Amino acid sequence: MFFFAGVFPRERQIAAATLRCEHCHEVAQQRFLEAGSRLWVFFIPLFTFGRTYVMVCTNCGWATELSRDAAMRAAAVTGAH
Ligand SMILES: [Zn+2]
Repeated sequence: MFFFAGVFPRERQIAAATLRCEHCHEVAQQRFLEAGSRLWVFFIPLFTFGRTYVMVCTNCGWATELSRDAAMRAAAVTGAH
């Protein structure tokens, strides 16, 4: 029997805000991303696991890991999805 399954990385932007970056000290857009791995079976995405949340500076590319709560709060405040 033919069986196809795979795990692929998944990245989704959940918010964006213009803030001062703690790395390059420039005021630049910060992207809030949800990153994870998604299990696909027969080309159907089943679920995402291993989720992490990061804030990425669009100026220097510096990524800061966030807690889920902090990421969700940022998404709620900026209202961007
Ligand atoms: Zn930066």
